[in-house]
Amino acid sequence: AKELGTARNEIFVSGMDTQAVQRWQLETDLRLGLKHQEFRLYYQPIISLKTKKIAGFEALVRWQSSKRGFVSPGDFIPVAEETGLIVPLGKWILEEACRQVSDWHEKFPHISPLIMSVNLSGRQFAQPDLVKQIQDVLDGAKIDGDRIKLEITESMMMNDVESAIELLKRLKGLGLRISIDDFGTGYSSLSYLHRFPIDTLKVDRSFVGRMEEGKDNEKYIQIVRTIVSLGHNLDLDVIAEGLETESQVKILEDLNCEYGQGYFFSKPLSREDAEDLLVKNPEW
Ligand code: C2E
Ligand code: CA
Ligand code: CA
Ligand code: CA
Repeated sequence: AKELGTARNEIFVSGMDTQAVQRWQLETDLRLGLKHQEFRLYYQPIISLKTKKIAGFEALVRWQSSKRGFVSPGDFIPVAEETGLIVPLGKWILEEACRQVSDWHEKFPHISPLIMSVNLSGRQFAQPDLVKQIQDVLDGAKIDGDRIKLEITESMMMNDVESAIELLKRLKGLGLRISIDDFGTGYSSLSYLHRFPIDTLKVDRSFVGRMEEGKDNEKYIQIVRTIVSLGHNLDLDVIAEGLETESQVKILEDLNCEYGQGYFFSKPLSREDAEDLLVKNPEW
């Protein structure tokens, strides 16, 4: 590590862009992390606001790097995207999430239908053999497609709307559900939304978090209300992300929002902690 440190300084002194160097170092560590299996999935419960029971989980990747310690996905996912490492990482995430939901389905058959949401990155979405890959993963885990919900973002679909619609149709053909993540923050065009074969809108937590405090809080309530009714008018279920307080939950309930997710209910949990929660199967 000593020599490496010196090498890094020399690169810095020789005038290379430090940002590029840091990115390259992160890429190197990501590769090692993949090789040494340093990634884990955490699971954040998604709660039905009608029954107050667990309806499913969102799988969120965690990286405990032997060199760096804990690295936030907000920091490494973008680099994994740019470098293409998200493709092998994303494949592992999907496999692990499928294995987990299959296992929980067997252990907790009374809590059903338990649905696992998995984030899909733009790079994965652009893979020509995505449908085949997912089919293979579902077969490997021996689960039906309807156990899995893919979370995609608006911008992923706006590049090439027609091919995105085709791809989504094929994914739906596997029985998968599709959710639009961070809805309202991207570049979606409302004129296309009704053409996308999707199931759910996820209201971004930046809106939810501003409903109560700050000078524009009333406006944020209106924005959230508008997104929920837009979803309902298009026959979609709506999930509110980032619910942290009881009064936020109350507002969303009053708007007839179907699902909620956020620290008010639970942080993302390790597999063990998620299982403890499933054993209790609490009602919030
Ligand atoms: P996201 O998909 O919007 O995930 C929700 C993020 O909000 C998660 O952060 C979650 O821990 C956090 N969160 C949940 N409830 C609350 C709350 O009540 N308050 C606040 N302040 N935050 C809350 P996380 O796990 O750090 O992930 C950040 C982003 O990284 C994700 O945003 C997603 O874009 C990406 N990401 C995470 N895991 C994966 C993955 O497995 N695959 C891909 N492609 N991207 C991932
Ligand atoms: Ca997500
Ligand atoms: Ca989100
Ligand atoms: Ca996000």
